[in-house]
Amino acid sequence: MITRPTIARTVTRAPAKELLAFCKKCKVPRSHLIVTLKSEKSSRVQCKICGGEHRFVSPDFPKGPARPKQKKEAFWEELLKPLTAKIKIPYTLSGRYRGNDVIEHPTFGVGIVTQVLSREKVLVVFKEGEKLLASGRPTL
Ligand SMILES: [Zn+2]
Repeated sequence: MITRPTIARTVTRAPAKELLAFCKKCKVPRSHLIVTLKSEKSSRVQCKICGGEHRFVSPDFPKGPARPKQKKEAFWEELLKPLTAKIKIPYTLSGRYRGNDVIEHPTFGVGIVTQVLSREKVLVVFKEGEKLLASGRPTL
């Protein structure tokens, strides 16, 4: 475990929650503000430099062997692990989904609904990565 150096005490205001994360836009580790904190690996963060918002990516991401696909797959597996007993819902455009629903997409396979963005958009994590899917659309 790496302990982060404690910043000198400030009495003015509570420090905003921030953490070091790899910025997908800056392509380097940057200080990020936590936007939503769900779990250690599915938090959304905002880069303090470019303002870009994205999912938390470990600051050591660019180091080591570049295997983004495996990382995504490991993330997907980890999300799916506690939900394997759930019934897989076949994905349709008209379907309504909730967070942690396990869906089965004809192209992408099994996915986990991580975020319901609106009545018509859900964020789903598949083996190959995160996808934005339509939901709740009227059937034609
Ligand atoms: Zn940035």
